[in-house]
Amino acid sequence: MGYLDQLYQKVVEKNYGEEEFHQAVKEIFESLEIALAYHPEFERTKLIERLVEPERVVMFRVPWVDDKGEIHVNRGFRIEFSSAIGPYKGGLRFHPTVKLGTLKFLAFEQIFKNSLTGIPMGGGKGGSDFDPKGKSDMEVMRFCQAFMQELWRHIGPYTDVPAGDIGVGGREIGFLYGMYKKLANEFTGTLTGKGINWGGSWVRKEATGYGLVYIVERYLEDVRKTSFKDKIVAISGAGNVAIYATEKVHQLGGKVIAMSDSRGCIIDKDGIDLDLVKEIKEVKRGSLREYVEKRPSAEYSENRQDVWKVKCDVALPCATQNEVFIEDAKELVKNGCLVVGEGANMPTTLEATKYFIENGVGFLPGKAANAGGVAVSGLEMAQNAYFTQWTFDEVDKKLQGIMHNIYNSISETAKKYGVEGNYVHGANIAGFMKVANAMMDQGIV
Ligand code: NDP
Repeated sequence: MGYLDQLYQKVVEKNYGEEEFHQAVKEIFESLEIALAYHPEFERTKLIERLVEPERVVMFRVPWVDDKGEIHVNRGFRIEFSSAIGPYKGGLRFHPTVKLGTLKFLAFEQIFKNSLTGIPMGGGKGGSDFDPKGKSDMEVMRFCQAFMQELWRHIGPYTDVPAGDIGVGGREIGFLYGMYKKLANEFTGTLTGKGINWGGSWVRKEATGYGLVYIVERYLEDVRKTSFKDKIVAISGAGNVAIYATEKVHQLGGKVIAMSDSRGCIIDKDGIDLDLVKEIKEVKRGSLREYVEKRPSAEYSENRQDVWKVKCDVALPCATQNEVFIEDAKELVKNGCLVVGEGANMPTTLEATKYFIENGVGFLPGKAANAGGVAVSGLEMAQNAYFTQWTFDEVDKKLQGIMHNIYNSISETAKKYGVEGNYVHGANIAGFMKVANAMMDQGIV
C-alpha cells in the first residue's frame, strides 16, 4: 500500500463516521499522488498529515427561546481548518442535516478554493443544525444572537471571517453581525455578505454566476479560439448561481436555451427570458412551469434531466451536488458540447467527470469555476480594511481578472505536472501547492 493510501486509511479510522470528509480527502489525494512525486519533502515533513487535521474545531451549545416561550437547544460549529495563507474564511450553514463531517468536508475543500483565488484567505466553515425554514424573523434573530454569543470570541477581521451559505442569507448575516458588533464593540469586516449600506460589496450577489462564465470565457478563448458570441448554453438550476450565470452569458452574446429547477426544466429555443425567470424564482419563489404560460413558444418537461438533452456548446450545472450523471454526460458529448463549467459544488458524478475528460470536453471543476463568490467576499474584506467601497464596475472587472487568473493557473499547473487539459488535477494541485509552500516556510506549527 502506498503512502497516501495508508494515510487515507488513517484518516478514515480517526474521523469515524465522517463519510463526506473521507470522500473529499480521497479526491484530493488522487491529485496529490502526482504532486508528491515531485516533492518528497512533503512526505518527510508530514505535511499531508498536518493538512488533513483541522487547526481547531469549536463545537458549542446554542440555547434559544421560540415565539411561544419554548426552549430549544441546537449545536453550533466552527471548523478553523487552515490559516497557512490567511485568516480562516468560509460560510456558515444553517440546515438540519449539518454535522461535524459535513462541515469538515466543506472547510477542507474551502482551503484549496480560497487558495486558487489568489487572495490571502485560509479555509474554514461553520454552522448549525438549526433550520430557519418556517421560523419567524424574531426566532431567527434570537437564534443568530445566541449563536454569535459564543462564536464572537473565536472570530475577527484578521482571525476568522465567516460568510453565508445554505440557510444563511442577508437576513441572518445582519442579525449575526449586529450581535458581533455589540459584543466586540468594533465595526470591522468580520463577516462578509453584509448589506450594501453597511460594509457589503457590490457584485456579491452576482459573483458566483458571473465568475463561472468568466472562467469558461477564458477556456473558450485559450483552447477553442472562440468566445461566448452565438454559443448555445444549457444551465441547470434557477437559483442565485444559475440566474446570474444566465445574465452574464447573455451580456457576452451567448444564448441560454434551457434551465431547470427541482421540479422540471424549460427549453426556450428563442433564448431564456431572464426577467421572467427572475420574476418567477426571485420574486414569487414559484415553479418554472409558470414560464411556459407566459411564453407559449417554450416547452416544459417534468424531467429536470432533460436540460442536458438539448444540443448545446456549453453546459453549466448550477443546481446541486450529484445532478449530472453518466447518461447526461453521454448525451452532452454526443451533441457536441465543448465545455462543462461547474457552478454548483460537486454537481457531476465521478463517472460523468471521467467521461467528459476522456472525450475531450473541457471540464472546469467547481473548486475553480465557482470560486467567484468567495473571491468577491475577499474583495469585501479588502474594502472593509480600507474603509472604502468600490463601484459595481470596479468589482466586476476585478472578478473577471481573478477568474481568468484561476484558469491560467490551473491550466499551467496541469501542463507542468504532465496532465495537460485535466483541470481537476490542475485545480487540486495549484490550490494545494500554495498552501503547502506556506506550511513549509512556517515550520512545524
Ligand atoms: P439556490 O438555492 O439559490 O438555487 C438552487 C436551484 O437549484 C433552485 O432553483 C432549485 O430549485 C434547483 N435545484 C435543486 N435541486 C435540483 C436538481 N436536482 N435539479 C435541478 N435543479 C435543482 O442555490 P445557489 O444558486 O446559491 O447554489 C447552487 C449551487 O452552487 C450549490 O451547490 C451551492 O453550494 C453552489 N455555490 C453557490 C455559491 C453562491 O455564491 N451562491 C458559491 C459557490 C457554490 P427550486 O427553485 O425548485 O428549489
